[in-house]
Order: sequence, then C-alpha cells, then structure tokens
Amino acid sequence: MPQVALDTPLFEVVGARSPSLRRLEKMGIRTVRDLLWHFPSRYEDFTKIYTVAEIEPGQQATVRAAVEEIRARHSFRRHMSIIEATLADASGSIRAVWFNQPYIANTLRPGREANFSGKASISEEGDLYLNNPTYELVRLRPGMSRGGADGDEQEFSHTGRLVPVYPETQGLTSRGIRFALQQVFRRLPPLKEWIPESVLDAFHFPPIEEALHGIHFPHSIEEANGARARFSFEDLFLLQLITLQEKLKLAVKHAPALPADIEWVKSFLARLPFELTTSQKKSLWEIIRDMERTHPMNRLLQGDVGSGKTIVAALAALIAARNGYQAAFMAPTEILARQHFETMKKLGVGGGFPVFGLLTASAAVIHYGEDGLESKISKKEFGDKAARGDIPIIFGTHALIQRSVNFSKLGLVVIDEQHRFGVNQRAELAAKAGPDGIVPHFLSMSATPIPRTLMLSIFGDLDLSLITELPAGRKPIETKIVPPNERKGAYQFIHKEVKGGRQVFVICPRIDPAEENDASAATGGMAPVPSPARLRALQTALDLKSVKEEFDRLSKEVFPDLRIAMLHGQMKAKEKEDVMKRFKSKEFDILVSTSVVEVGVDVPNATIMMIEGAERFGLAQLYQFRGRVGRGEYASYCYLMTTTAAQSTNARLKAIIEAKNGFELAEKDLQLRGPGQFFGQVQTGLPDVAMEALRDPELVKHSREAAMRVLQENPSLKKTPPLKKRVEEFRAKLHRE
Ligand code: ADP
Ligand code: MG
Repeated sequence: MPQVALDTPLFEVVGARSPSLRRLEKMGIRTVRDLLWHFPSRYEDFTKIYTVAEIEPGQQATVRAAVEEIRARHSFRRHMSIIEATLADASGSIRAVWFNQPYIANTLRPGREANFSGKASISEEGDLYLNNPTYELVRLRPGMSRGGADGDEQEFSHTGRLVPVYPETQGLTSRGIRFALQQVFRRLPPLKEWIPESVLDAFHFPPIEEALHGIHFPHSIEEANGARARFSFEDLFLLQLITLQEKLKLAVKHAPALPADIEWVKSFLARLPFELTTSQKKSLWEIIRDMERTHPMNRLLQGDVGSGKTIVAALAALIAARNGYQAAFMAPTEILARQHFETMKKLGVGGGFPVFGLLTASAAVIHYGEDGLESKISKKEFGDKAARGDIPIIFGTHALIQRSVNFSKLGLVVIDEQHRFGVNQRAELAAKAGPDGIVPHFLSMSATPIPRTLMLSIFGDLDLSLITELPAGRKPIETKIVPPNERKGAYQFIHKEVKGGRQVFVICPRIDPAEENDASAATGGMAPVPSPARLRALQTALDLKSVKEEFDRLSKEVFPDLRIAMLHGQMKAKEKEDVMKRFKSKEFDILVSTSVVEVGVDVPNATIMMIEGAERFGLAQLYQFRGRVGRGEYASYCYLMTTTAAQSTNARLKAIIEAKNGFELAEKDLQLRGPGQFFGQVQTGLPDVAMEALRDPELVKHSREAAMRVLQENPSLKKTPPLKKRVEEFRAKLHRE
C-alpha cells in the first residue's frame, strides 16, 4: 500500500468515488492533514464488553455475540426498511434492530460473530433489544481461538472501546470518519515531531504520532485528554512564536527619532480646558519615550470609552509633525475620522499648529492649522499634497489611508479601535516601510477591554498603555435590566428626559448569522450553507428591518411628539454623517440605530442608552454601547431591554451591572461566550482549537514562556526545521483568512 503524506489529497486515500469524499470535502476536509486534525467532540465509553444476560434497559453497552438469525422487513406504513437480528452468546440472546440500513444483512450473516455497541431499549411488546447498534466483526483468524484471548488482541475502532464521536455534518457519520481515519493511519509514514523535545518533556505532552492516535482512538479518557492538551498547547505555542517573531523582526527595524519638546507639550497642556488624568499623563509619557527612540514604537493605548484617548494620540501626532514628519490618524468609520479631525480643530486654538487634513470616501478637507482657514479640495489634489509632505497630519478611514495615500515622510501611524484588526493588518502596516527600511512608529487605540489571555497571545507583540480612570466629574451610569412589563415606565422616563433637553440612543440587535445557519440545518440539514457574503447581505437586511420597524413604532406609536432619526448600515456614508451631525446638534431627540453604529461617537448631551434585545449582545459590546452615554455633566442611564421576563434574570446581563470595570467584564465574556464571540465579526484566522485554548490563561502563559525560551536560543528557528515549517504553515493559514 503506498504511503501518504500530510498533504496527500484525501481522494488518494478513500478513493475518488467514495461518497464520504464529497461529504468530507463539504466540511472543508480535503487532505490527510485536514482529516487528522478533525478532532472528535466527545467519546462514548464502550470499553467494557458485557454478556447478553448482563444488559439492562437504558444502558449503552457492547456485547460480543453471534448472529443467530437475521431478516429484512419493510414497514410500508412508515416507508422504512427494517433489519432484525437475534444475537446470542453463552449467556442468552437479544434482538437487534436497524432502520434503513438494508446492506447490514449482507455482512451480518448468521453464524458471524461481532461486537455490537448500542443502547438497550424496551420494545412496545416489552422485550429488550439493541437499537441501531454499531457493530464490528470479530476477525476470523486461522489457528486462533475466536476473540483472540492472547496478546494479539484485535483492535476494534467502533465498539468495545472508547469510541470517538465527531461533529457530523452533511450526512457523514462518525463511523464514516473513523473508517477514513483508519485507512489514513494504516498508510501514514512516521511523522517528524515539530515541538522541541524539551518543551514536550516540560509539560508531559505526548509526541505527535502518539497524540494523533490518542485523540482519535484513545484507550482511556486520560490518553484522550493528554492528546487534546497537546494540540491546544501547540496552536497557542505556534501563535506565540509568530507574534514574538514579529516583535523580534520589528526590533531590528528603525524608526525616525521624534523627540518631544517638553516645554511646548507643557504649555500646550496648560491651554487645555481640563487637566489630563494621571493615567492619561502616564500614557502620554510612555508614548513620548517610545517616539524619541529609533526603535519603532508598537503600542496599544487602551482605555474605556470616554477615558480620553484621542487627546493623547493627537499630541503624539503633533509631536511627529513638529519633527517634520507626517502622522496618519485612522479610524474605522468616516464619522469617527471626522470626529477626530474636529477634535484637532478645537485643540488648535492657541498656535504652534501644523496643517492637517481629512480624507474620507466623501470628503477631502485641508485645515490650515495656524490661521484656522479650511478648504475643500479634490481627492487627487489631496493625494498629491500628501505625497509631497504638505499635509503633516491626515485623518481618514483605515481603508483610504492604507490604499490610496502615499506619504513622503510617515513618522507615526495611529489606529483607533484596534480590536477590529487581526494579526495581519498590523504586520502589513508595519511592512509599509519607506525605501530606506525605516518604519513609522505605531500607536493603536482600543476601548474594548481585551482580556489578558488575548492580550498576551493575539496582541502579544504590542506594548501596552492603560488609561484606567475616567476624567473627573463623570457620573456613574445607572444600568437597569428592563423586563417587558416595565417597558412602559422606561418610555415615560425617556419622554421626561427628552422634555428636559436630553437625547437618547436606541440600539436594535442584529440577528446572529449563526442562527440563520442553524435554521437551515434544522430544515433537513442538506440546504447549502450560505456563503459569508450572502450571510452578510442577509444580516444587513435583517438589521435594516429591525431598525426601520423600531423607528416606525417609536415615531408613530410611542413618541409621536418627539423628533426621531435612524441610522443603519445601508445608508450612504454621507447620509450617516448627516444624521449623526444633526443628532449632535440636537435636531433629533432619539437616534434609532443598528449595533454597527459607530463606536466611540461623542454626544455628551445623550443620557439614555436603550438596548433592545440586550441578551443577544456580548458583554464587551454592551459595555461599549453603555459607554456612549455619561459623557457629559448629566446623570445617565442604560436600559437593557429583554424580550421575555425570564431573560431579565440572565446571568450575563447581571454581570454587566455588577462588573467593576471593563477588564473584568471582558474576562467574563471570554469565559461565557468564547473568543469567537468576543471578537464578533472579526476573523482572527485562528483554528477552533486555538480559540478554545485562549480561554485557558495558564495554557496561554505556558505557551508564551515556552515560545520565548525556544526563540532565545533559536530566533530564526533554523535549528529546528520541522518547527520552522510548521510555524510557516500556521502563519500561511492565518493570512489566508
Ligand atoms: P475615548 O477614549 O473614548 O476616545 P475621547 O478621547 O473621545 O474618549 O474623550 C471623551 C471626551 O472627554 C472628549 O470630549 C474629551 O475632550 C474629554 N476629555 C478628555 N480628557 C479629559 C480630561 N482629562 N478631563 C476632562 N475631559 C476630558
Ligand atoms: Mg475614541
């Protein structure tokens, strides 16, 4: 039998005509590697072999018995084929029944002996039978007693042992997967271990071959768990190697030294209408220290919504400009880009200001810092000026700046809402080095409290500055879970607040795309899974529906006397901006919006955040929404609206009321929903095993330490070719997403 390699396409193993091939491919399993890394979701314990007499109703059991009699029937009433057999061992006999598997009669001929694993049930007539048991023939070997009681015990894969159960789809059974796996294992050449022996030893992980056998065909639960632990560790370890290597790579690059004129910084701060909080000052100081060095800064500035990150980053941009370099200040949406631009304008009172510009899909504006004049120009002209270095600070959306703008001397890149980014974009941006190999300093900002485990892994190459307190004088936000019967009261309160001059956000949930998936699975399971693009389109349509419906209901039925606007993803950027602008200038009382509404929008006069279908959102997201109120001098409120009374006792919703800070919530969210949900729409490109493993802080810590030790002696991994290759494969997989 020819051997296979990990990259061998599966058709070479199972045969191009095998019906399981198409089903496997539908699940994205195309190569030997894909199949080997498709792990069981659980195991059924059929380790003990019972005698027929021992079987009790309700039990999951394996018996070794001979087929005494077997017959096929057809149930016309229920359109089913039924196979019935009588199985017997020395202790007695029992019936077995299979539905719609007529071929069974071909293999289970009278006289054959087999293991039968299944559930013992009681029939309508009151007798015991095995329902749809999995069976496996006992091989008849010449010169050996049946069952092989000596050392050459037959290995069973479906019965008489721990039987792996796989997440199944598209009609492929666990038995089918186990069968394909057996064929693979039989032809698999020895695999080279890629995890260094010292690391395996330190954590007592099984080597790769043992682990693969152990996870698919374990002899004990301990063996299965040990194998799984290795694979969880392995993914994190590879991830750590990648981020740490990224960090090392950056460490040998150079950035322009951009020293700050401390006297100027002081006088600038003195002119602000407020004093920076202690942690704003500390963060600013950390950034200044980074920027004056020729080692590129790679820092994440993290702080709750409203903690004042913008001013800190704006100062960094001004420092770059004062050194004759350019700064790119990027936001995830046009509204936010414009908000940053406007903030810079307000800061401009005073002097010492460079030219700065705003470039979005709909606008190209230049502000002549010192004299406060502003003019709209064409995007082309904007691009030319930027390329000549005539616009030292440029605000824009990520897309615009990444794609279309060239800089003559880029010294600093600021990215707002970093958590929307995966591992790769950062690497790409860092790669946007000048021809002389000089890279810009890099500052990202995020209001999403990133749990420590993720910080150390996915964001493991970043230094961290934390803004831990809100500016003085902010009032705590009163948060309340509102069951359906208290909705009326909430509306009355909203009405009163609006009459008092305040404004209100109403957020409508998006329907989780996963539910769409489930719905199609439930209707027969054979419906093609919609493509991600199709899902997104569906999503937008659903969002739109809920926002429009809510908008109609509120404006016609609930608050006919109030001014209500809506905001959703299908509006043009220009329209969205217009609505947002008018909301800010108090032309509307209530803004009904989808959850995709711009994070970080600053409307200090808004005091109520009403979140519909709150149970649908992640904690981190709810936390973000809530942070949009309580930004001004007024007492603020957050209403978590639930659709049934039962949800008002929802532990997750309670967590948001009880949590002391965003970090605590983020950790909880991660525990409750897993990293996939935490990142929401973001594709991290991480395999499921790694995503799961990220829940385990100890494992993350160990993987990081192990990766550091390995890189210390072997920074390019040249000394360990199998590991180097494995890291490259893993990296390629991350990039493919
Ligand atoms: P975020 O961290 O969410 O981006 P912003 O930078 O938008 O927060 O700041 C929120 C508001 O707080 C802005 O109006 C800003 O001018 C104001 N602000 C920032 N720092 C302080 C401070 N130290 N004291 C008072 N207000 C501040
Ligand atoms: Mg912000």
